[in-house]
Amino acid sequence: MHPMKAISLTLLWGLLAAIPAEGALRVMIDAGHGGTDSGAVVGPARESEIALKVAKALERRLKSDNRFAPLMTRQGDQMLSLSERVRRAEDADSDLFLSIHANSSPDKRARGVEFYFQNQLPPDEESLFLAASENKMEKVVEATHAEGDLKKESDVRSIVEDLKRQVRLQKSFILSRTLARTWQKSEKIDASSIRQAPFYVIAKSSRPAVLVELGFLTNPVEAAKLMKSETQEQIAARIHQGLVEYLGRHQTKFPLN
Ligand SMILES: [Zn+2]
Repeated sequence: MHPMKAISLTLLWGLLAAIPAEGALRVMIDAGHGGTDSGAVVGPARESEIALKVAKALERRLKSDNRFAPLMTRQGDQMLSLSERVRRAEDADSDLFLSIHANSSPDKRARGVEFYFQNQLPPDEESLFLAASENKMEKVVEATHAEGDLKKESDVRSIVEDLKRQVRLQKSFILSRTLARTWQKSEKIDASSIRQAPFYVIAKSSRPAVLVELGFLTNPVEAAKLMKSETQEQIAARIHQGLVEYLGRHQTKFPLN
């Protein structure tokens, strides 16, 4: 093939790959903090700045992959309330909410990435959880069959709400686990890195939501790494890969999403 033709085909392919496909996964990337709220600050390391750089690197990557349609809660160094972040994700009808932060601890040795999702069950009870969801679906079917009964209708509504919540929690857990597994391929992480906590942005989101603490700014080695653009790109690549795996294995355009 003529080299020019090969180049233009590569270009064309690149352009096509960058146009979000119908049904592309809408990922709301939320860079934590911003403006007067710097988050954790340790020497020259500022959480708001690191979070934004990683968020932007991830946005660039997802933009070049038509399986994704990335969105950002903030593009610059601006203050944004937690409720505004959640509202933006809801208004944009995003499929996933991914909040990016960096950690701090009084213990300078504390290290490593952490993935937070909101759930009341320990992660090893995933199968129980799945079973419960299946049972709920059965109840919906049963209740739907009994038409004309108002009590039953409100039952159906509350069961559907509960099922939606469970699907969201389940997807949030699966996303956390998938991101952790991908991360593990390039950096050793602790088994306890997947955790549960009622962070506002993940608790209030009606979308599957995960909050990632990239590492500890109070750990001098991690802080130095996290400030490097090379590391920020690597992190974005890991998250991108994790999202690809999540999309391939678990994401379905489930009507309850
Ligand atoms: Zn933070």
